[in-house]
Amino acid sequence: MFDLLIRNAALPDGRVGVDIGIRSGRIAALEPALAAEAGEVIDAGGQLVAPPFVDPHFHMDATLSLGRPRMNVSGTLLEGIALWGELRPTLTREAIVERALAYCDLAVSKGLLAVRSHVDVSDPRLVTVEALLEVRERVAPYLDLQLVAFPQDGYLRSPEAASALERALDMGVDVVGGIPHFERTMEAGRASVEVLCRIAAERGLRVDMHCDETDDPLSRHVETLAAETVRHGLQGRVAGSHLTSMHSMDNYYVSKLLPLMAEAEMAAIPNPLINMMLQGRHDSYPKRRGLTRVPELLAAGVPVALGQDCVLDPWYAMGTGDMLDVAHMAVHATQMGSGEDKRRLFAAVTDTPARVLGLEGYGLEVGCHADMVLLQARDPAEAIRLRPNRLKVIRRGRVIAETAPERTRLALEGRPGAVDPAAYAPPAAS
Ligand SMILES: [Zn+2]
Repeated sequence: MFDLLIRNAALPDGRVGVDIGIRSGRIAALEPALAAEAGEVIDAGGQLVAPPFVDPHFHMDATLSLGRPRMNVSGTLLEGIALWGELRPTLTREAIVERALAYCDLAVSKGLLAVRSHVDVSDPRLVTVEALLEVRERVAPYLDLQLVAFPQDGYLRSPEAASALERALDMGVDVVGGIPHFERTMEAGRASVEVLCRIAAERGLRVDMHCDETDDPLSRHVETLAAETVRHGLQGRVAGSHLTSMHSMDNYYVSKLLPLMAEAEMAAIPNPLINMMLQGRHDSYPKRRGLTRVPELLAAGVPVALGQDCVLDPWYAMGTGDMLDVAHMAVHATQMGSGEDKRRLFAAVTDTPARVLGLEGYGLEVGCHADMVLLQARDPAEAIRLRPNRLKVIRRGRVIAETAPERTRLALEGRPGAVDPAAYAPPAAS
């Protein structure tokens, strides 16, 4: 007897016709044609059941603040940072909590049930930290929120950042962040990476730095991050976010860098939507894309997890909370268009970021948490193409969000009466 039984699911690894039996919030059985009773039965109808989406890079203290106090006219990273600096002193804990909770509602509706959010520690009042610690606790029943202490104004550049970052970690922030390319000099950037990795090693924490988010081919803090990871024994616990300078680096240098990153067991977290929007702003034509070298990183054995970074904030006036939008942009920007490529990019918004965050009990195996999403699509490649409705979002065995299937009625003489967007793809689409 199960609490919930999902019949006839397709799984991301290619298995089809699978039944998933759920008991006491965990997956208790997973096999074809389970002979069992259940309190509730969901017929997946052969459609995809995936583990929840995971966003490994977000800014929940800034989300939904677009237009306050004004819009980003140049569209650059630097004007975004300046705008955020104007808004930050006016922020209250209540307003941050309210925006973050509203964003989490949207995330849940898209099957996004785990988020790593950077939290700015540049304002010594640390209202951002207080607010997001409160949010982390309030959303815990339905969304895993992991927080990164992020010195937005520069760890060495801002005089109060060092003590504020330590206090944020004392208060319970999970991960050590950084922004070496925003320090005053390349040398200061290097020094910041060294100190921040040492702090993480001493406290037993993970590291996730905004690293080389620039078009400068000589911005090479990722090399320092890889070296410091090995020096402090942090292998498998460090991520470099953005790494956009790798797009513009010399090919010979990259051929040396990739094995260093693999040796350090670093993860890469590109953010395709925001990278495409913010990078290349000083170019005329040809205009660089600014996204890091995703296929080459994967080929070198570096795990790549895709992040969303921003939704409706000083840096990005777009965003939907849908990690499939992120994967969809990645397909285009990286030209990873084969079925196998799309499966790897689907993993980059599910399994891979779950490993980067160190989520416990994540996945579709017996014994894992009963957290999953039923999509109106037959497989991962189709899910990225369609960005379809999330028919059921399940957390610990309970349906916490539902969307009706998309189906448009047609009134055309001699044509079918309805269109189901998931019914069109030839087998080769996958
Ligand atoms: Zn970011």
